Amino acid sequence: MTQMIINGERVNAADGRTLDVVSPTDGQVFTTIPRGQSADIDNAVASARAALSGDWGRKTALDRGRLLVKLGEKVLEHHEELAQIESRDTGKPLSTSRADIVALARYFEFYGGGADKVHGQTIPYQTDYSVQLIREPLGVTAHIIPWNYPAQMFGRSVAPALAMGNACVVKPAEDACLSVVRVAELALEVGFPAGALNVVTGLGEEAGAALSRHSGINFITFTGSNEVGVLIQKAAAENAVKCVLELGGKSAHVVFDDANLNVAVPAIVKGIVYNTGQTCTAGSRLLVQRSVYDKVMQQLAQAFSSTRAGTPEMDLTCGPVVNKAQFQRVKHYVEKGLSEGLTIIAEGTIADGVPEGGYFVKPTLFSAPDHSSCLFQDEIFGPVLVAVPFDTEEEAIALANATDYGLLGAVWTENGGRQQRVARGIQAGQVYINGFGAGGGIELPFGGVKKSGHGREKGFIALEEVSTTKTIIHYYGKTN
Ligand code: ADP
Repeated sequence: MTQMIINGERVNAADGRTLDVVSPTDGQVFTTIPRGQSADIDNAVASARAALSGDWGRKTALDRGRLLVKLGEKVLEHHEELAQIESRDTGKPLSTSRADIVALARYFEFYGGGADKVHGQTIPYQTDYSVQLIREPLGVTAHIIPWNYPAQMFGRSVAPALAMGNACVVKPAEDACLSVVRVAELALEVGFPAGALNVVTGLGEEAGAALSRHSGINFITFTGSNEVGVLIQKAAAENAVKCVLELGGKSAHVVFDDANLNVAVPAIVKGIVYNTGQTCTAGSRLLVQRSVYDKVMQQLAQAFSSTRAGTPEMDLTCGPVVNKAQFQRVKHYVEKGLSEGLTIIAEGTIADGVPEGGYFVKPTLFSAPDHSSCLFQDEIFGPVLVAVPFDTEEEAIALANATDYGLLGAVWTENGGRQQRVARGIQAGQVYINGFGAGGGIELPFGGVKKSGHGREKGFIALEEVSTTKTIIHYYGKTN
């Protein structure tokens, strides 16, 4: 049975209750996790607070960085074990989990290297004054993370926070949290002091809600649904703490008639099918210039038809979706598309021999006459792509922005002026030109505009998000 990590110890929930963990591959319970409650959150926050005034709080930036780098190395030593855990828990193809674990290690390396490179400033002021601007940690940081990339999201959230000297309390998703707990155990092995990194497992409405409204936290970072994002922001407001929110997305590819389809088509397919479409930054809307619409759809149809969903061991294009609710959600949207008169242009297949009861769905490509369907607005979080034609550059930009979300975008054209105009015209936190890499690398600042949230993660900028400044104004003139 999995346990939580609080104050450097592996513990059960204070009341001993547990939750079943279901495998998406066959729908069967395969282990349990503690069902943490507010008492467990209280303990975790108290231990984080104690760490800040103890061993952890006294570490130099260099020492924090070294610990993070060591944790990155440790993760790589346990690469295959962690990948197996991740696939078991989420149903991902093994090669996807292996890539996720490498990315997790990279978060620790990147922010480990960054820890001692955040410098303060001196500010010119009045005669006989010296003014310093120093950076300080926020304190106890709360991290509520989702199930779609458990290991990666954990690294993305805690690595910059630890680098800056915060003490973390993490509430991973009840649907997939096993890799997170294992990495927190590894953190203890490499020497992170008790309380610097706590993990409380449990339900969102119990442990998650208790964490987000806890008066002992100084910051919350959340990635997940818009509905819960609003609750988190309200809870943060009650305690007047800052929050960073990464919510949904409905990101558009904009394909012009001069696009290089050899590059664009595989990237568009991967952008929606990878991780079974369960990626906030999935390219889930496709806008194609009318003159090449049929040609693009033909090529995409061929590529879509060859996609296959299977078990982690089969290691095909994608795995199952994470749970029954998600399975029903994807099915609902496919039926909705059909009932609204959209056309299915192509479908992938589900591999022979997948276990009964697994949450497998077929990757699906829809074509629509215009942009009015709810499939263009709602985040499906499955491998469902909807395409629509456009005529002019202005129309393409307007359509790309015709959603409440604003996470990512991509423009495909060889025309340099158009590349810049469209990239700048799309309202999103990241825009690709002639490429697509859901969320980009660890080095690239990332986050949303509009209802996709606010604040930035990844890149060096994340170190600023999880710290604050103090201005020290020193008068050194003679006083007599
Ligand atoms: P999804 O609908 O995709 O599962 P959620 O937004 O519900 O996404 O979940 C993302 C994370 O937020 C998970 O760790 C979940 O446990 C947590 N969560 C869900 N509800 C709440 C809540 N009311 N308060 C705090 N955290 C929550």
